[in-house]
Amino acid sequence: MKILKLPKTNFKLFMEGLQNYGEVHVPKKKSSQSFVFGPMENTSEIAMDYLRTINPPKKYFFKPKDTLFNFSSTKGFTEVIEDSDKKIVLFGLHPCDIHGLKILDIVFGTNYPDKYYFARRKNVIVIGLSCMPDDKCFCRSMATDATEDGFDLFLSELKSSYLLTVGSSIGDDISTDLKHLLTEVTKKDTNEYLKIRKERKNRFTLSLDTSDLPYILELQRESEVWEELGKKCLCCGSCSMVCPTCSCFNVYDIKNLITDSGQRVRQWDSCLFKDYAVVAGGHNFRVNRADRVRNRYYDKQNGFVSQYGKPSCTGCGRCIQYCPTKIHVVEVFNKVRGEA
Ligand code: SF4
Ligand code: SF4
Repeated sequence: MKILKLPKTNFKLFMEGLQNYGEVHVPKKKSSQSFVFGPMENTSEIAMDYLRTINPPKKYFFKPKDTLFNFSSTKGFTEVIEDSDKKIVLFGLHPCDIHGLKILDIVFGTNYPDKYYFARRKNVIVIGLSCMPDDKCFCRSMATDATEDGFDLFLSELKSSYLLTVGSSIGDDISTDLKHLLTEVTKKDTNEYLKIRKERKNRFTLSLDTSDLPYILELQRESEVWEELGKKCLCCGSCSMVCPTCSCFNVYDIKNLITDSGQRVRQWDSCLFKDYAVVAGGHNFRVNRADRVRNRYYDKQNGFVSQYGKPSCTGCGRCIQYCPTKIHVVEVFNKVRGEA
């Protein structure tokens, strides 16, 4: 692992240098409380102090709505992978979102690798950025508050510089190209990093006790907590849409009846939606709201653990921030534990 130092006075030149590697996308302010990832028009718009974007980085690889192929009765079908050759430098991912991508890599890469996801994933350079938690972050409980891999470069902020960690060969190429902007790390920098790290650790106010959680969930399948939650949850699906690891989709055809052609499309879906579990013949396996909301919680902290050995929640806090009825994931699990 190579660690260098980027003085803040060189940051603008560094960001401009990244443009040689692709279209640079950065976190930008959308309103006083919300941020989005989008193309960088100029370096002054980068929201270096953002905490969470509305949509997570998954939107770059697993698009909200994606044409899979075009078809017609005369020409058969033609595969479409939009943006498969587009080089993007995705700047500013916090450790939890890098872990979110690592989880999606498992989901889309195991058993039946998803060529649409990976066609884009291979063209995106990931540059991480350190952060300070707020009252909705519980990434520390999910062991996603730091990361040693999953990025090409990672910037850890100090007072007047960034420590720049190189995490891949392309990251090494960039740091070599831009070496005139970088300097060596000093003992003073290391001490400053350790001080900030300690301060960050003390800033976490929210935590989730994950010990035994899959086991407790197994015992609590019939708990009244789920009925209560079903009365409060609108099943609007916002929590799934903003979640960095939710990956359900629906597939349907859009047909042009005049030309006898069309597109097969896939679109983000949510297990909270009423018709999500409808199968051929019309039976719905999760007709009640309580069943649907329980299903999402079990998928994150029970089913994924059984299948892949870890939860599929990164503790990013998006579902807490964007739930219209203020359902709080940590409070729900505390209730299930009988510790609310
Ligand atoms: S955002 Fe809140 S109300 Fe909407 S589906 Fe999720 S838990 Fe239910
Ligand atoms: S369940 Fe909530 S806190 Fe966990 S990763 Fe998804 S949006 Fe973030």
